[in-house]
Amino acid sequence: MRNTLAYGAKSAKSPLAPFSFQRRESGPHDVAIDIKFCGICHSDIHQARDEWGGSIFPMVPGHEIAGVVTKVGSAVSKYKVGDRVGVGCFVDSCRKCSSCEAGLEQYCDGGMTGTYNGLERDGKTPTYGGYSNHIVVDENYVLKIPANLPLDKAAPLLCAGITLYSPLRHWKCGPGKKVAIVGLGGLGHMGVKLASAMGADVTVLSQTLKKRDDGLRMGAKDFYATSDETTFKKLQKSFDLIINTVSADLDLNSYLGLLKIDGQMVLVGVPEKGMVIHPFPLIMGRRSLAGSLIGGIKETQEMLDFCGKHEIACEIEKIPITKVNDAYERVLRSDVRYRFVIDMASLT
Ligand code: NAP
Ligand code: ZN
Ligand code: ZN
Repeated sequence: MRNTLAYGAKSAKSPLAPFSFQRRESGPHDVAIDIKFCGICHSDIHQARDEWGGSIFPMVPGHEIAGVVTKVGSAVSKYKVGDRVGVGCFVDSCRKCSSCEAGLEQYCDGGMTGTYNGLERDGKTPTYGGYSNHIVVDENYVLKIPANLPLDKAAPLLCAGITLYSPLRHWKCGPGKKVAIVGLGGLGHMGVKLASAMGADVTVLSQTLKKRDDGLRMGAKDFYATSDETTFKKLQKSFDLIINTVSADLDLNSYLGLLKIDGQMVLVGVPEKGMVIHPFPLIMGRRSLAGSLIGGIKETQEMLDFCGKHEIACEIEKIPITKVNDAYERVLRSDVRYRFVIDMASLT
């Protein structure tokens, strides 16, 4: 066992504070990783505050991990000491169901093993995430970070990047498609960069015009404020695909009206409570509403390689771990430009 330094939450009501715990020694199939950076995903906040229910405490959040390999097990073939690697939202899965066999481990029939707030396959050992200095992961659940991407700006690709890449690919984002991204936060800004690199015509739908210059710089062609009611009139039947990244309740019915006939709206944001959908905006345009969860290991590697090739990385604000509670408050105020990333050198 190895003593690991971390920041964790003791309960849904307590702020994150220094915490230490034991990680397993690396086994024959494992890679031991020195964590250099970890992104702060809004899901960390939802779970640390138990907004979705069922949270396991104490909790060490963090599933946007970038670091360097320090040790490999005797059976490891894909990695060597010194490699730059990432770990995303899960660290294991059943490996035998049809989803796992199809490279869709995130939809594993037996449930993926979350990087934190989960249990190992033994059903009893809690998993602790990336707000820590070191992690041990089976090599099949580790990703390679392209050499031209800095580790700090690559870390959030492991969740924010893949969560947008996967639905953009699945719903065939590309040249000739009009795509809207709702919410310009951590996920949304990756959506703008990825969809425009795929050749689509991208529009941002943000609460205000405050982030307009940034959105256009990231590749959007248009930028509209959803607080302005005329936006919903002007943009009726405009989009082939809308990806909603918002972490709070929205009137989805008015967004469905912005889809063309046969258009799709994909939900990736997960607010605390459910939302009401009226069938009319779906029926009156043969539109569909879908959801999407992160992405499998194979697709996550494909996304990282795509980002390397197109030189796409996250826009980050790097913070020492002592500022993590302040960062949470700023994320909640939509005041993040565009992902907080913890510099793990500050964890001593
Ligand atoms: P984030 O950085 O906080 O971004 C969310 C954005 O939503 C904000 O920047 C803001 O954009 C907009 N927003 C926030 N409150 C709003 C409100 N009341 N009304 C309208 N818009 C609002 O969060 P994130 O890390 O990108 O995560 C977004 C959501 O996705 C979270 O719920 C998270 O749990 C979920 N998530 C899902 C998956 C998945 O696999 N499906 C993966 C990761 C995260 P503007 O300022 O531009 O309006
Ligand atoms: Zn996440
Ligand atoms: Zn499975």
